[in-house]
Amino acid sequence: MMNAAEKIEALREELNRYNYEYHTLDEPSVSDYEYDMKMRELIDLEEANPELQAPDSPSQRVGGAPLEGFQKVQHDIPMLSLGNAFDEQELRDFDRRVRGGVDDEDVSYVCELKIDGLAVSLKYEDGLFVRGATRGDGTTGEDITTNLRTIRSIPLRLNKPETIEVRGEAFMPKKSFVALNEAREAKEEEPFANPRNAAAGSLRQLDPKIAAKRNLDIFLYAVGQWENDPTDSHSERLEQIQELGLKTNPEWKRCKDIDEVIEYVSGWVERRPDLDYEIDGIVIKVDRTDQQETLGFTAKSPRWATAYKFPAEEVVTKLQDIELSVGRTGVVTPTAILEPVKVAGTTVGRASLHNEDLIRERDIRIGDTVVIKKAGDIIPEVVRVLEDQRSGEEEPYHMPEVCPECESKLVRLEEEVALRCINPNCPAQLREGLIHFVSRNAMDIEGLGEKVIAQLFQEELIHNIADLYKLEREELLELDRMGEKSVQNLLNAIEASKENSLERLLFGLGVRYVGTKAASTLAQHFEEIDALVEADAETLESIPEIGEKMADSIARYFDKPQVVELIAELKELGLNMTYKGAKTSEGPADSPFKDKTIVLTGKMENFTRGGAKKIVQDLGGNVTGSVSKKTDLLIAGADAGSKYTKAQDLGIEIWDEEQFKQALPE
Ligand code: NAD
Repeated sequence: MMNAAEKIEALREELNRYNYEYHTLDEPSVSDYEYDMKMRELIDLEEANPELQAPDSPSQRVGGAPLEGFQKVQHDIPMLSLGNAFDEQELRDFDRRVRGGVDDEDVSYVCELKIDGLAVSLKYEDGLFVRGATRGDGTTGEDITTNLRTIRSIPLRLNKPETIEVRGEAFMPKKSFVALNEAREAKEEEPFANPRNAAAGSLRQLDPKIAAKRNLDIFLYAVGQWENDPTDSHSERLEQIQELGLKTNPEWKRCKDIDEVIEYVSGWVERRPDLDYEIDGIVIKVDRTDQQETLGFTAKSPRWATAYKFPAEEVVTKLQDIELSVGRTGVVTPTAILEPVKVAGTTVGRASLHNEDLIRERDIRIGDTVVIKKAGDIIPEVVRVLEDQRSGEEEPYHMPEVCPECESKLVRLEEEVALRCINPNCPAQLREGLIHFVSRNAMDIEGLGEKVIAQLFQEELIHNIADLYKLEREELLELDRMGEKSVQNLLNAIEASKENSLERLLFGLGVRYVGTKAASTLAQHFEEIDALVEADAETLESIPEIGEKMADSIARYFDKPQVVELIAELKELGLNMTYKGAKTSEGPADSPFKDKTIVLTGKMENFTRGGAKKIVQDLGGNVTGSVSKKTDLLIAGADAGSKYTKAQDLGIEIWDEEQFKQALPE
């Protein structure tokens, strides 16, 4: 058993890690609810053991450290966090504390939606927008003025020449979030976990062009400092800043007591899915400014406000069946078929169960009553089984031993939880492989949807990729819903795809780990497929951007006799096997950066990060984001952090800005 001190230490360490992932990297690894519960546990332990309290405990600190590469901004008035309440009782406790703090005067509140985005501060001088910053750790934030200027609802000039610092939440509307993630997935980029991370990730980019494309919006909800503040309550402030031209959220309400607050809160639990942006709770603030001043602040949050946090919406339904699907790489994935239910605004009928281990761990059985939620409010997930609802009829599920499509034995590869079908001729894999082959970023063959492909396999008109190029007009006319015109269009599209540049074919083949970017790199490097087929893993790994795992996977792929045969067949059928695009500039032959892997860190006086990166790339260097054994050179500006120490540890050459400047051609 851990004693209190050890437990506190362990919790602090864990919470510090979550804070870093969430606030600095915008990549949380646990749910907000889990985080909040751990934080509660820490606070309770610290209160029970006052001798163990510490000013640097995560319970006393706001947010996370600013990112490297941004100018730092000191907030004149700290930007704090909020205390929280998870149920009605906790809201009443808050009200009791507040009224106690103001000698039992009457207290009215303002309730506002708690927008799930990124807290920012906007500074106006004589009505002109001069600076925008993130909250950072509360006292020091990042200067993101240029990114914020791209948000259309932020006025660059106020309606009156006021000098004021206002605060609010920059956010990404749900629609933009869905569109952004679709685009990212199409490019095989990691999708954002939720709109908050997407908003934060967009605003904390050094290149403002990215933020400009991301359709961000803002609601302002507080005043930091205001010369000649004419108001004496929060509600008046909201009205007045709106008049200055600053966008406030229209749903706020003044409530005369905590009962009205509770009514407002319950109303929004229902209406939350109808909003076109995400909220994660309701913020409740004491309205009168003089009462706020009397109540004051803790180290981390105002005593005159709190956040009611919505529980993650969970609903109960029946799990009717488990279906299996075989992917392009042979992975067999179980999916729960659910009695359709509404969760967080949409009807859900399926949820991925990912793999056998998860079914086993959660003891999920067919016929079970299960709890469903949407991870990040978007992806449906089976959270747990309600065991006390079992009738005894439920059937434990066993993954089959053979592939549901081709009946060959399934295997579990080392260190993988997934079961795979490794039959290279498995029709499911070939079918999924062909769907990938014709997709937009690969061979881009229009008119070949999933349904048509399924038919082609069913009618045995196709067995592999090469067969696609042997299809005949008459055969196609036999298929459902294929008229003269669509058949001709399809045949034309197939014919045209033969001329595609090599990278499309490479991506389309579906070599493991090879995305569009790597396919391009390989095509440019080797220029024609035979050279690539012959390359061994070592040669491949020496190419910038091709890592060990990928190199290994490519070499093994092109070693397979059936692949060699397929390539020969495709060649015979007239497919282009050469790179047709422009070669990217390799830079002058004597460039100090040519073919080197270079990392940039810290702040430079004479170059922006983006500018320096472009210079290095134009001179033939390859810029990557993190320091590893493969890094040839680290160029470090001022205030360099962990990358610098890592490069030192690995004995990598390090230059300062002056050396960088010296190395550049005139
Ligand atoms: P918070 O999100 O609980 O509340 C404070 C923030 O609310 C403000 O800074 C502001 O950005 C925002 N806000 C939105 N609408 C507002 C309004 N109308 N008025 C005032 N403020 C409004 O606290 P926090 O310090 O920003 O973050 C802590 C929370 O973040 C945690 O409670 C947790 O939910 C989450 N978190 C999660 C992880 C994780 O790993 N999942 C890690 C760290 C933090």
